[in-house]
Amino acid sequence: MKYVEVNDLSEFSEVPERFPDSPVAGRGRMLSSSDTFSFACHPGVSCFNLCCRNLNFFLNPYDIVRLKKHLSMSSAEFIDQHTDIIVRPGHFFPDVMLRMADNDEKTCPFLSDAGCRVYPDRPYTCRAFPVEQGLYFDAAKNQTRRVHFFRPPEFCQGRFEKSVWTLSSWEADQEAAFYNQMTVQWAEVARLFQNDPFGGEGPDGQKGKMAFMAVYNIDAFRDFVLNSSFLKRYKVVSQLRMKLKSDDVAVLKLGMAWIKMFLFGMRVKEISLKK
Ligand code: SF4
Ligand code: SF4
Repeated sequence: MKYVEVNDLSEFSEVPERFPDSPVAGRGRMLSSSDTFSFACHPGVSCFNLCCRNLNFFLNPYDIVRLKKHLSMSSAEFIDQHTDIIVRPGHFFPDVMLRMADNDEKTCPFLSDAGCRVYPDRPYTCRAFPVEQGLYFDAAKNQTRRVHFFRPPEFCQGRFEKSVWTLSSWEADQEAAFYNQMTVQWAEVARLFQNDPFGGEGPDGQKGKMAFMAVYNIDAFRDFVLNSSFLKRYKVVSQLRMKLKSDDVAVLKLGMAWIKMFLFGMRVKEISLKK
């Protein structure tokens, strides 16, 4: 999920995250809900697995929830073993990137000869591919809406297959609806970090580390919430509080709401300060 802040979508030219050097970088067909595209990916295509290497791959918090569960790892172990953490210029919150394997082709660490070994829990970017989603912020109307682009790289043969999709049928086929929902929620939080909530402290300070933990290191955040004075200081709505021990999604939703309240002073429905 990228935030697109342009005044005219016809001028959209942001380079796709996964394929910054692709010949189609900066291009792509914008899709409306009724538009169709042809695509299929299967072991029979000549490019099979070619796209799973040398990627600039940003992981969303929900991607990590699914991947660490699939790999039977803690969130801290996953972050340590599989990610690089970067702070992009003009951003006040770190991004988490999937670390490619240390081989000549820089393959995705989850790529095997048979294909993706985390397929049921593959990240949102892989699920939505070759569709890329962004949020278009219309500054004049102060409104945000989702925009979609069909952007297979030049070498992708899947675009010549016969299966025809709309955005909604592709999302259903890829079981991407919940990923989409969680990604949009995270994008709304991530966008807040275009402003600096840390004063001079930066994201490496205490508040920044807490916020990072709240959305990326979910197991540590759960431990913090349940075993500190957190629940004495904050009132958490019962639908979330009852699930915190066993449900990573509930912890992540609490983490996103807590960031909005704790760092940006927003009123949120999930959590409030006790009086
Ligand atoms: S997670 Fe799976 S589908 Fe995504 S890049 Fe890695 S191997 Fe390919
Ligand atoms: S390049 Fe396209 S068709 Fe080839 S493996 Fe990747 S997604 Fe499938």
